[in-house]
Order: sequence, then C-alpha cells, then structure tokens
Amino acid sequence: MRTRFAPSPTGPLHLGHAFAAITAHDLARAAGGQFLLRIEDIDRQRSKPEWEAQALDDLAWLGLTWDEPPLRQSERLPAHRAALAELWSRGLLYPCTCQRRDILEAASAPQEGGAPLIGPDGVVYPGTCRDNPRSGPLPSGAALRLDMRKALQDLGEIAYSETGTRDGMVHVSAGHLIRSVGDVVLARRDFGTSYHLAVTVDDAAQGITLVTRGEDLAEATPIHVLLQRLLGLPTPVYHHHRLIRDETGRRLAKREDARAIARYRAEGATPADIRRMVDL
Ligand code: GLU
Ligand code: ZN
Repeated sequence: MRTRFAPSPTGPLHLGHAFAAITAHDLARAAGGQFLLRIEDIDRQRSKPEWEAQALDDLAWLGLTWDEPPLRQSERLPAHRAALAELWSRGLLYPCTCQRRDILEAASAPQEGGAPLIGPDGVVYPGTCRDNPRSGPLPSGAALRLDMRKALQDLGEIAYSETGTRDGMVHVSAGHLIRSVGDVVLARRDFGTSYHLAVTVDDAAQGITLVTRGEDLAEATPIHVLLQRLLGLPTPVYHHHRLIRDETGRRLAKREDARAIARYRAEGATPADIRRMVDL
C-alpha cells in the first residue's frame, strides 16, 4: 500500500493539514506500506519555497517520515502535457477562450433555467466553446476543457472503491457527470496543466494505491477516475476523511494562520498535543 499527502505550498500547514497528513501516514505504517509526499505547486504565482520548506519542517516535527524524496508537481509539466496530448489526439479536449464573467452570464441566461448549476469547480460550464476546432497540434497557452459527453461515450458510469461506504463502492452515472460536473478545465491557460490532470497523472506516477483526502474533494474524485480510464492508469482506493472545523463549524482555510502548526509549535505544543486537537 502506498499513500500520500499532497499539500499546496501557498500558506502555512494548519490543523486540517496535520489531520490529513497523519491519517495518510498512519494508514500506510499500519499496513506496512509506504507514505509519500507531493508538493502541489503548479500555481507558480501563489506557491512559495518558504511555505514548502516550512511544510516539510512541520511534517518532520509531527514525527512523520516519508519513504521517497517529495515529488514536486511543477517539475512534472512534460508528463502532464503528454497526457493532454493523448486526450487531444483523440478529440476529447477543446480550447476555451471564455472569461469567468462570460461563463457566469451564459450559465445564468434565462433559457438555461435561471440560477447557474454549481459543480466541483464552481459554475458548470455551459459549453460555449465546444465547437472550437480540435485539430492540429496540442494548443499551448490556451485553456483546454474535457468534452465530458464524448469522454463518457463508452462508459455508463464511473465506479471506484471507497473505504467506509456500505458496499465499498461509489457509482456515479454518466448523466450526473455530464449535467452536474460538465466540461472541466484540464489545462489552464496560465499553468498549462490543472489540478485534476496533475493529481491523476502524478498519483499514478507515484504508484499511489490509497488516496486519502478531505471530503471536500469527494466530488472531484469521479473526474480523476474518468481520467484514469481514459489514460489507461490504475485506479487507487479512495478514503475521504472528515474536515477539521473551527468552533463555529467552518472548515479551516489556508489563510487561517491562527491554527497554523508553526504557531502551536512556537507556543510550546507537542506533536501529541496536535494529535489530540484533531481527535486522533
Ligand atoms: N493539494 C490539494 C490540497 O492542498 C490536495 C490534493 C488531493 O488530495 O487531491 O488541498
Ligand atoms: Zn469557452
């Protein structure tokens, strides 16, 4: 078994990250498996080497050990582009030139039925650019969307193993993905890749067999499983865990330095205190 913790170095690790990292680590150790790290730094604007260094320091302080050098996602662009080229050559992607505002306007047009539908990435894309040309070499410097309907052509549903569900499986229908998730962005204009594409390609590259992540990402998982099917990659088992919330029930956000691990460390907390704080 191989698990991973995949922080984005865009702020301090807080109690929610500690819980996620410890969960993945302890599951791997209990099974005699491996625990890996991945630095999700495709957003070059917001990612900072200081945050990465602080994260590694916090994780080591928590007593976690990892079995391979961390994989830095920003160094993986050639692999991400190769996967995109494969999907592009099969006519499954199209370039999208919409601005956020265009999408909102098109999605809330009266004939679309009023309030825009919200999916895992925000407003479900209304398909404005779906007829753009799909020929020639893989476009660079353009946002690329997955044609969800075409991608699901031969698949009635997406199914994957999830720990903690009654029969151990989650089934998501093609209809749900087409209507409520829609044509997700697989390459951002500014990054050349995207969260969905990068996480799928890199989980496979790291040989991850159990993905543990917060339940806020559960809606994104069928997208990743679909990409695995399209790219011929193995599908790990998924474990979506609870989120750590503050006293008012709101989940902790990146900017909430108040609950940064570094801050508790500075105030003299021990790793055992952190485990207690997140009910471990
Ligand atoms: N990098 C993501 C985050 O910081 C998590 C990646 C994942 O588990 O898919 O929330
Ligand atoms: Zn568009």
